[in-house]
Amino acid sequence: MGHRGFNLVGGEWVDALGGGTFLRRNPADPEDVVGEFPDSTAEDVRAAVAAVEEGAAEWAEVSAERRAEVLRRAADLLEGRRTALTAELVREEGKTAAEAAMETSRTPLNLRFHAAEAQRVDGRAYRGDDGGLVYTWREPVGVVGAITPWNFPLNIPSRKLGPALAAGNGVVFKPSPITPLMAQRLTEALLAAGLPPKALALVHGGARPGAAVAEDPRVGAVTFTGSTATGRAVHAAAGPTRRVQLEMGGKNAVVVLPDADLDKAARIIVKGAFGLSGQACTGTSRVIALPEVHDPLLDRVVKLAREVEMGPLAADFQLRKTLDYVRIGQEEGAELVTGGRRLPGKGYFVSPAVLTGVGRGSRLAREEVFGPVLAFQRASDFDEALELANDTEYGLAAGLVTRDLNRALDFARRSRTGVVKVNQPTTGMAMNVPFGGLKASSTQTYKEQAGPSMMLFYTQEKSVYISPLD
Ligand code: NAD
Repeated sequence: MGHRGFNLVGGEWVDALGGGTFLRRNPADPEDVVGEFPDSTAEDVRAAVAAVEEGAAEWAEVSAERRAEVLRRAADLLEGRRTALTAELVREEGKTAAEAAMETSRTPLNLRFHAAEAQRVDGRAYRGDDGGLVYTWREPVGVVGAITPWNFPLNIPSRKLGPALAAGNGVVFKPSPITPLMAQRLTEALLAAGLPPKALALVHGGARPGAAVAEDPRVGAVTFTGSTATGRAVHAAAGPTRRVQLEMGGKNAVVVLPDADLDKAARIIVKGAFGLSGQACTGTSRVIALPEVHDPLLDRVVKLAREVEMGPLAADFQLRKTLDYVRIGQEEGAELVTGGRRLPGKGYFVSPAVLTGVGRGSRLAREEVFGPVLAFQRASDFDEALELANDTEYGLAAGLVTRDLNRALDFARRSRTGVVKVNQPTTGMAMNVPFGGLKASSTQTYKEQAGPSMMLFYTQEKSVYISPLD
């Protein structure tokens, strides 16, 4: 039986004002309807923003200690229903049970991490020229708009809503229409934990409500994670004077040097490329191998790829895109070594694809697939490998497999990506480390998840001058 979901506006669970709905189906079996959710329009967003303006004013007056408590209670509630939540995540998004369990255990930890941040917002004090006091003060921005993708439907929202709420903002949350149930569960937990009901709004739907969140001048800060094309539209809609944080696509490469342990390199590559069915922004989509190791590495990667267990792709458009890029790669002259085929059955399952001979400048070498398609490229030496790794508009993550520390340091310094991984998969980030890309992968103004700039996004600074009385 499908779930019936609602928007949360003004503390009430409501349908879209226009009455429209959409269905979300299980990607492993599209006949299984996960739920029916409001198909919202700009009208719903306008109502949501008005309510959150009120709720944000109330929440900003709540002490930091108490705000932290609410986030911790939400974490406890999510943890308490972790088994059910994991099953729902598998059914809605298509992760394997193990992948889903990792996400449902991480989200409460994110909320607790950000809860602690509530009490760390501080300022500076100066002596005034007249002997008085000058101090800086960081206050909430007011209404934050959070527009999120489907591939981490709990984790990514939790690392936006967590710090936004910790800082005392209200939030209009516009999740992906691929994972509305997870958004509903996160919202329910925050409400049940004691958040003022108007401080958070949930508006379901796709581009229409997303664009309305980005455009609304009452939304003081827009945090977005998704594709680079959509991110650019969000940026344009928000205009030049609004605070915008965009984390977007990637075309992440792993370079393998001749001194590498090739078995280990193959495990690192396969985990990064085919974990989450290749649907991770930091997923490995290219391998750049030096001539000495190319063939033995390819053999090992192909062997492991054939054994890998993958969930379905999240949606029919993901399936089409994946199969399209396998075809495009071959048309461009690459050789399909394994996989890249739809598997029999109702779900959106494919076999993990490995292509070799992927030419520099080809579409497969440069465009984000966001599916389980791994492109092998050859480089004659380290410098060329690094240059190839950087030869894309994206700058999210890059990996190197080597035993040579000097090469590792050199690679880390010259890689034009926001994340560099040496001897580990390009995917998987620590929650206490700043996260974000370079180049077309990010706005780069504020890092997400942790670090000194994270809270700067969710707060605005004032300088206060106080003179002594004569
Ligand atoms: P998407 O860009 O299609 O959608 C992201 C969100 O934007 C969704 O909520 C969507 O409904 C909304 N949206 C769509 N059109 C909009 C518009 N015109 N205005 C405002 N909002 C709009 O991305 P997706 O398919 O949900 O996610 C996959 C993409 O996300 C990949 O490119 C991936 O690399 C990227 N991603 C990046 C990170 C990161 O941190 N860098 C993390 C995860 C995913």
